Formats: sequence, structure tokens, C-alpha cells
Amino acid sequence: MKDERKVDCKKIERMIPRYLENKLSVYEMQAMLDHMRECKNCKEELTIQYMVSEGLNKAEIENDYNLLQSLENKINDSYKQIKSHDFLYFGFVFCIIAIVCLVIGSVVTIIL
Ligand SMILES: [Zn+2]
Repeated sequence: MKDERKVDCKKIERMIPRYLENKLSVYEMQAMLDHMRECKNCKEELTIQYMVSEGLNKAEIENDYNLLQSLENKINDSYKQIKSHDFLYFGFVFCIIAIVCLVIGSVVTIIL
């Protein structure tokens, strides 16, 4: 079990740079953020890489509340993106089901 988690962390670490460039798919983003809710190490890694990508060093970061806040904002935006994606997906599935029902309904009507 412990080893599986390590492999997971390695995967997540590799996703971080792409996350910061907004290049992750919604599914990857969800996996990454879910993992970070449980794993402080990876969350810390994200914070550090975010700082680096913003061109700041650690000493500056610890004093810079705004930077941490802007990372939190970025994460919240990602959650919103994931949610609206899920919403669109279920909306799409619902439409397909409705169309199938409509087709079956009219076929049944014709037959009867
Ligand atoms: Zn981790």
C-alpha cells in the first residue's frame, strides 16, 4: 500500500508543471487535486513549484500572503472547472437518454 502511494506521488509531481501551465485535462486536474487533499507533501510541492514559476524564492513567499492566496484562487478555479465539466457531461448524457426515449416512444407509437 505504501509503495502504491509513492508511485502516485511521483505521478502527481510530474503533473504539477503542466498544471501550472494550464495544460492538464480536467480528469488529470481532478486526480491531482483529490490527491492533494490527502497528501500534504504534494500540496507543498505544488506551492513550491508555483513560487518558482512566479519567480520568487522561499523567503519571499513565506511573507507573501497574496501569492499563497492567488494559488488558492487558482485551485478554486480548477474545482469550478471540474464541476462545470461534470455538469456539462451529465447534461450531455441526459440529452442522449431523452433522445433515445423519444425515438423509442415514436417507434412504439408507429407500431401500435
Ligand atoms: Zn502525494
